[in-house]
Amino acid sequence: MKSLDWMADAVCAQTDPDLFFPEGAGQNTNKAKKICAACPVRIECGKHAQHLEGDVSHGLRHGAWGGQSPTQRAAAGGPSLTAARDEAILRLTAHGVGPGDISGQLGVNYRTVLRVRAGDRQEEAA
Ligand code: SF4
Repeated sequence: MKSLDWMADAVCAQTDPDLFFPEGAGQNTNKAKKICAACPVRIECGKHAQHLEGDVSHGLRHGAWGGQSPTQRAAAGGPSLTAARDEAILRLTAHGVGPGDISGQLGVNYRTVLRVRAGDRQEEAA
């Protein structure tokens, strides 16, 4: 996707961003998805999110994009969110980012960060 001109018509740009990128367990994006339903660039937005999620170097896309949660995008045929999450954890680890900061940046559970890092070390040792 080359042009991001569609973003000029994004309805979310005029709303509370916390609705689209909620913090904490459950990450409920139901209010955001209702806003997305009336957005004229919903299709472009959803395609853009899946494009970014297909490139693990961008890491996991957090929040509602194109009227869908990350789980819904994955179910619709996007790349494995688990794989993208794990790649993002390992990429940040390789850059010297600590597990607490990784947890905060990616919005994933601290114990998940530790588990992914431990699993990678076991694979390297094998
Ligand atoms: S579809 Fe939703 S997230 Fe995407 S630009 Fe529109 S309002 Fe924003």
